[in-house]
Amino acid sequence: MNDKKNYGFTTTILHNDRRKGIEHGSLHKPIHTSVAFGYNDARQLASVFQGKEPGFRYGRQGNPTVSALEDKINQMEQGVGTLCFATGMGAIGAVFQSLLRAGDHVLSSSFLFGNTNSLWQTVAGQGVAVSFVDATEVANVAAALTPATRIVFVETIANPRTQVADLKRIGELCRQRGILYIVDNTMTTPYLFRPKSVGAGLVVNALTKSICGHGNALGGSLTDTGAYDWHAYPNIVENYKKAAPAQWGLAQIRAKGLRDFGASLGPEAAHHIAVGAETLALRMERTCANAMALAKLLEADARVAAVHYPGLASHPQHALCGELFRSYGSLLSFELKDGIDCFDFLNRLKLAIPASNLGDTRTLIIPVAHTIFYEMGAERRASMGIAESLIRVSVGIEDSADLLDDFSSALEGC
Ligand SMILES: *Cc1c(COP(=O)(O)O)cnc(C)c1O
Repeated sequence: MNDKKNYGFTTTILHNDRRKGIEHGSLHKPIHTSVAFGYNDARQLASVFQGKEPGFRYGRQGNPTVSALEDKINQMEQGVGTLCFATGMGAIGAVFQSLLRAGDHVLSSSFLFGNTNSLWQTVAGQGVAVSFVDATEVANVAAALTPATRIVFVETIANPRTQVADLKRIGELCRQRGILYIVDNTMTTPYLFRPKSVGAGLVVNALTKSICGHGNALGGSLTDTGAYDWHAYPNIVENYKKAAPAQWGLAQIRAKGLRDFGASLGPEAAHHIAVGAETLALRMERTCANAMALAKLLEADARVAAVHYPGLASHPQHALCGELFRSYGSLLSFELKDGIDCFDFLNRLKLAIPASNLGDTRTLIIPVAHTIFYEMGAERRASMGIAESLIRVSVGIEDSADLLDDFSSALEGC
């Protein structure tokens, strides 16, 4: 497969490893468990250490199995380089550890994954100013920028309320101001959306979710799309300016974020994720269709007070999603009418499983305020639009009729 054809999303992912030429004609990149990589010529070892020739040194900084996955994610996001991490949080944490200095300002969407929100509080305690804005309107973002703003951080479809950032206009704003724009693409995945298309410089993917897709491995990634000019970033130290400017950011993140903090992805996990990624498109087609059908069923039910799903015409950013995304995602959330006990409802479901992961093949469901958003307290929950009765559903690939039947039967009992 050395041809130059422009293959589709799935064809590219399926054949990516093989195209690079794998030992013994393996179809998958094998799982390399060796921590160290030896060289017969000591000069070559030195030269690999000095970055003068490619090669592996020590597992925390790079591994062939992980590297094959990085290449795959990079193809999906059409980036100039990708780094993998032990978890999605490891990837996000590495950005802040490696790119921010005391006195810098970060502007973040207020609609955030709970642990990212918590991470911001930590960063704020270390001398970095952090502010949160409703990023569904670019004007809010523009108004909150300061001369010290280094990073604007948003998610595509926010979990759990499904607010959608004004992705394109925020990208234009960041480009005009030379600010690094980071988009967490976990909810959309590169199959539904490429943040590069709206000018994001770095893209975060929690590989744990839909890309791995089977709830059997943790992982995260950062892709540099090439859209950001690192000359404009004041915190890149001279040491990482040796390569082409497009690589400066990842060079510093690889050393200061991944190597020094050590949230490295293991080769076994990388293998699980790589295999899962092969069926990303098929699974997303099915989960998005199931989510749409379930959202419609819930919206039509008198016992449901509100449904949040970008595929519904009632969703505030429905039209925007139609323009930007291939489909509307696998995540929805809803509120039951006052007086209905959400725990009783959840306990009547036979298929949907009370559990906290997202992007699994199985439908997972969770009462948000009582679990994943419990620690942040009622006030911050209210500011994020999280009702106490909010239930989040990560829709799986079950047969649609079975899934709908499960929810209708559980609602019947309310
Ligand atoms: C799950 C998630 C993360 C973190 O990923 P982990 O692999 O669980 O650390 C980050 N961002 C979003 C949007 C997520 O859903």
